[in-house]
Amino acid sequence: MSQSRRGKSIRLDTKPKPRHRKVPDGVAMESFLIHGPSISEKWDFRHHVIPPISSSVTYRLEDTERGGQGFREYASGEAHRTGPIYIYDRLDEPTRGMLEDELAGVEGGDNCVCFATGMAAISAALGITLKAGDELVAHKTLYGCTYSLITNWYPKLNISARLIDLRDAAALEKSITPKTRCVYFETPVNPTMELIDIAAVAEVVHRVNDKRKEGEKIYIIVDNTFATPFCQRPLALGAHIVVHSLTKNIGGFGTDMGGAVIAPHELEGQLLLYRKDFGGALAPKSAWPILVYGLPTLPLRLKKQQESAYEVARFLRGHPKVKRVAYPGLEDHPQFALAKQQMRDLHGEFAPGNMIYFETIEKGAEPKNSVKVVDWIAKNGYALTLAVSLGQLRSLIENPGAMTHAAVPAEKRAEGGIAPNGIRLSIGIEHPDDIIRDLERGLELAD
Ligand SMILES: *Cc1c(COP(=O)(O)O)cnc(C)c1O
Repeated sequence: MSQSRRGKSIRLDTKPKPRHRKVPDGVAMESFLIHGPSISEKWDFRHHVIPPISSSVTYRLEDTERGGQGFREYASGEAHRTGPIYIYDRLDEPTRGMLEDELAGVEGGDNCVCFATGMAAISAALGITLKAGDELVAHKTLYGCTYSLITNWYPKLNISARLIDLRDAAALEKSITPKTRCVYFETPVNPTMELIDIAAVAEVVHRVNDKRKEGEKIYIIVDNTFATPFCQRPLALGAHIVVHSLTKNIGGFGTDMGGAVIAPHELEGQLLLYRKDFGGALAPKSAWPILVYGLPTLPLRLKKQQESAYEVARFLRGHPKVKRVAYPGLEDHPQFALAKQQMRDLHGEFAPGNMIYFETIEKGAEPKNSVKVVDWIAKNGYALTLAVSLGQLRSLIENPGAMTHAAVPAEKRAEGGIAPNGIRLSIGIEHPDDIIRDLERGLELAD
């Protein structure tokens, strides 16, 4: 697996820790995503070829001593040495556990803890790294519910957020105070497709952390949902924690919700305790399709989606009714050089992903054309469906300003580059000509 050498992985504590090699030596990541860590201690593979969906709320214990041991070891890091003792679904569970091992392996992290949704994962990652009085620095444009979490709920807990342009490393440096504990961002940013330079952020934060005591260090948290680990692995570029909505391209089929936090070993216990007490555990029935259908087909799907996304982006770029197109795979993306450096697939090839953002040309201040185009497609399109969410087999189209990012106040949307005439596309696995035909016909109606 080829990874950027620009940023080195930062570890917050330097104590030796058990290191679990999840990806067997010499095995290609595509094969790992099908077979996982070979024989898992989480299930007896002598009978099953496909890992079973476990469906048991509670677990039989041989004696009180074993039950006691299970509780003592839970979230202590000990279970990795002795093998899991299952007690209760919300604590730990084998189908979800196998999914967690694969996700940790593909992101190159120590541990993964899965949650019921992406938002449950994001609130857990922030929940274990922030407490009352702390500050968070985040990019000014964020997934709508993440924005709402940190601007509506965290002020009530006395956690404040500085929302800045994280493309500017000097602005980041200025925003860090002694109270800062987290730097949080998505890259590519939803929906604008701007990129944040993970290694550049890591350089600043690493420098600050070098002068800080343990317990006061800053964690870099990257929402890697848009890129998926197929296109980008933030831990190798210096981030500490990766969060995902498994609902999107990792799940890939649009049938189940889920979320994941991939974090260093020293945070695993906190994540497990957070999940146990706040209760947002990923159901094994939802973990199973992600493990059995989602991850094994992720490289195939992304490769196909990405090829089509390039075709669609090129079509849009040349269209007279389109004001601008943002796709990291286009040579004229303002951060194309960074895209080429940071977005690399599991073999080191350029991997700009399947998401596109574009704006229609408008005659007046109101976003008439963007609504016209999307509404025509909603009623008459064949390959494109008007729907939120992303990363499915079907191509999806939506108006972020009016839909997914409506929770962001209008002036903040404008500041963050979410234009009222902006349209987001998630490219699926249809033939690109069919996607382009829908867009072509829709755009014909624009004034
Ligand atoms: C969808 C999404 C989320 C939230 O995930 P859910 O599974 O819907 O809770 C978070 N971040 C990004 C970038 C997303 O696209």
